[in-house]
Amino acid sequence: MTGSAPYDFVIAGGGTAGWMCAAALARFTPPGTRIALVESEAIGTVGVGEATIPQIHHFNGALGLGEADFLRETKGTFKLGISFDGWLREGASYMHAFGNVGRPLGLLPFQHFWLRAQKLGLAKPLQRYSLNELAARTMRMHRGKTAGGHEMPYAYHFDAALYAATLRRFAETRGVERIEGIIEHVALDGESGDIAALRLGGQREVAGRFFFDCTGFRALLIGEALGTGFDDWSNYLPCDRAVAVPCASGGDFTPFTRSIAGKSGWQWRIPLQHRIGNGLVYSSTHLSDDEASATLLGGLDGEPQGNPRPIRFTTGRRAEHWRGNCLALGLAAGFMEPLESTSIHLVQSAISRFLAVMPAHGEAAPAVRDWFNHQAAFEWERIRDFLVLHYTANQREGEPFWDHVRHMPLPDTLIAKLELWREAGFIHREHEELFTEVGWFQVLAGQGVEARGYNPMADALPEADLRAMLEQTETALVEQVKPMPRHLDFLQGYIGGA
Ligand code: FAD
Repeated sequence: MTGSAPYDFVIAGGGTAGWMCAAALARFTPPGTRIALVESEAIGTVGVGEATIPQIHHFNGALGLGEADFLRETKGTFKLGISFDGWLREGASYMHAFGNVGRPLGLLPFQHFWLRAQKLGLAKPLQRYSLNELAARTMRMHRGKTAGGHEMPYAYHFDAALYAATLRRFAETRGVERIEGIIEHVALDGESGDIAALRLGGQREVAGRFFFDCTGFRALLIGEALGTGFDDWSNYLPCDRAVAVPCASGGDFTPFTRSIAGKSGWQWRIPLQHRIGNGLVYSSTHLSDDEASATLLGGLDGEPQGNPRPIRFTTGRRAEHWRGNCLALGLAAGFMEPLESTSIHLVQSAISRFLAVMPAHGEAAPAVRDWFNHQAAFEWERIRDFLVLHYTANQREGEPFWDHVRHMPLPDTLIAKLELWREAGFIHREHEELFTEVGWFQVLAGQGVEARGYNPMADALPEADLRAMLEQTETALVEQVKPMPRHLDFLQGYIGGA
């Protein structure tokens, strides 16, 4: 209903962020809560965002979406990690695989033993000690405990539009009202400065107590109407454009995302059941749009489906994600480029943080907003540091873009992390930081960041035992991978024919 009593929650925008928000509110708010979502088919969505991280299980699980149904509906596939090809230098490849690498011994995480073994010339590449990477590189997939009793954490690749459609069905079935129309004006309350209503074409008005800005890069509510500033991170993450095009499957059904470094950026390759998603992320200072499109089209595994679609962005985040009675989610909250597939996760974590402190009548105490904004800032900045690491620690010398990112100034928080690693082989992860020590370890090692030291407790292990430990770890993992079915066969069996 428009133009009448205010809704409890009004969601502006129906991309992945908007429908995730609608589904979660529909599932978790008390009966009788009135929720509206306004979106415009004429404007459409950003139309990318196909790779996720394992935390998506919590979101889907909380909604009660059955996994096989979800994979069928979204044409999804499994993802065991991300392969970074050419990021260190042309021809080199490493994986940020989900799950453990090696195993801890005594008080020490595996990295110290590996660093010692590396100095002794005994260490193999990390791949040999990662169950997920061994499975991924041999195109295999397994769900549940392996023969060796290990879990293999995994995420999904999926068609974002189909995921939004699934969530829309979920939300509408549970009473969310979808309003089609273009938001032309955001009306503010004269006294409080909060948002009072969205004005749509045709004199329609959608009034509400609390608003979610899910309008994508436009940030109509948090940015345009409320004037919340934007922290520009282009000095750390200088890519500012992408061009995307799906192509026909080329038979190479990888259970991992590929991120392939190129002359002035990198290309993603995301296999779905019905197509492969591709895009080139680049810096417009270093590559023209025409060159970018030509590079993308030249590097596809199959026939392109349509014309390459350009996307412009500025990396960074809104200075405040929650202002007054408005919370920004998705691209309206900011964007850090898709390198480690974190955007959808950031929507999910913001929703769960909101639900934890949901205001009863739309009015949140400043302490609640401050807490939310502080947590969000911490989460975003630590993810940013992790992304910056991929760029700065490259050895692609002589290529202007890569030379630039190798020499750019770094955030202090990243400098501190790198110092700890270089000096002591130690990785510090603060509470609630998204990426784990093992994730950092893989990227630090993969990007060739040398650690001068490691914990001397690792020296307590006799060299022969160190050698045996590494060999046994590797052999046990290789044996566990052998009986695993191929990814495509597993998926087809699981969902009943892909
Ligand atoms: P959009 O999809 O842009 O949705 C905005 C909504 O607002 C639309 O419904 C639109 O119609 C509506 N709207 C806007 N203005 C108006 C108006 N005036 N009136 C009415 N409605 C309006 N994330 C990942 O997790 N993994 C990835 O692999 C990944 N890859 C990405 C690659 C690129 C190049 C980019 C740019 C992003 C990527 N992302 C990825 C991010 C991901 O796409 C987004 O986080 C996610 O899709 C959420 O987008 P959104 O809903 O915020 O915005």
